[in-house]
Amino acid sequence: MHRSVYVHVPFCRHRCGYCDFTLVAGRDDLADRYLAALDRELDRVEPPEAGGRRELDTLFLGGGTPTRLTGPQLDRLFASVFRRYQLGEGAEVSVEANPSDVTPELIDRLADAGVNRISLGVQSFDAAALKTLERDHLPADVPRVLETVRRRIDNVSLDLIYAVPGQDLAGWEETLDAALALEPTHLSTYGLTFEKGTAFWSRRRRGELISPPEESERDMYAAAMDRPAAAGLRQYELSSHARPGFECRHNRAYWSGDEFEAFGPGAASLLGGVRRMNHRGVLGWLRRLEAGESPWIEEEALGPADRARELVMLNLRRVEGIDGEDFPRRTGFKIDELLSEELLEQQRLGLVERDDAGVRLTREGRFVADGVMSAFL
Ligand code: SF4
Repeated sequence: MHRSVYVHVPFCRHRCGYCDFTLVAGRDDLADRYLAALDRELDRVEPPEAGGRRELDTLFLGGGTPTRLTGPQLDRLFASVFRRYQLGEGAEVSVEANPSDVTPELIDRLADAGVNRISLGVQSFDAAALKTLERDHLPADVPRVLETVRRRIDNVSLDLIYAVPGQDLAGWEETLDAALALEPTHLSTYGLTFEKGTAFWSRRRRGELISPPEESERDMYAAAMDRPAAAGLRQYELSSHARPGFECRHNRAYWSGDEFEAFGPGAASLLGGVRRMNHRGVLGWLRRLEAGESPWIEEEALGPADRARELVMLNLRRVEGIDGEDFPRRTGFKIDELLSEELLEQQRLGLVERDDAGVRLTREGRFVADGVMSAFL
């Protein structure tokens, strides 16, 4: 039974040139329709057999920009969620926030609704990189924003991006150090990717944007692993670092292969071994729900071997990797049964290590994680 819920809030002031997420920019006029449709989608949640509301360990509001909603709209969203779900003891409730949106009133509202973790889209402490990324805040805003958040919510993740065109290793290290100096409980560090269909993808093709050289990108990832560790934040996933006890429980549940339910345009759920994907267009998702139709456009019941292979991918994102006891319990397969040759090859290359506890990427393997994982597909 799922104990994690994700809600996708698809509104942004502006679509950043690198972003290919499901969202609408400059269409806040759709927010009330979105909230009504979300309420309908939540009506599809089956109540527990004993009646009442389902209990959650984690709730995550992501986007898009959840903090783009007005205060009353956020209240409405939480009321919709909490009509069907209740928070279990010590549940984690995370919200992604844009630094520009943070005010004392917003934080009071979120904290009063039960939010106890904020993921702040800081991206960089370098004004030039922020400009390239088309973000609407300045590095100097971040300490004040953080102070505002911490008046009520002290579990704060700072999200950062490296390998921004024009950025060098020294610039990235300065961003890391500036972030760590603010003593966040959690840090997420993502390498910038150029997704087909984004403005950045076209601009790179035209030669207007040039990524840092591969070697420099590799050094940046090394710094993203080493600097947080030196400041007491343990890496627990390819891009995630936390003070002990502050790992994101929602994401950990996902990487562990736990079931979860997700709502909103483009959201994907895993329930009863069935993966479901909502309509990826905001208007398409809206119209389906307004017409009383299902928001799902894809539904796939994975066979046992496919589920097990998928779990390999998810587990390998974790620094602890695949748990030798948990994996067979969840999938019915021993890791060797499923992967022995691929595993031996990756082991021989020094990218994967194994012992009695399980199988994990080596430090070297983390640099080429996508390639290692595709070898297991
Ligand atoms: S604010 Fe975030 S979600 Fe919105 S467009 Fe920019 S990168 Fe995408």
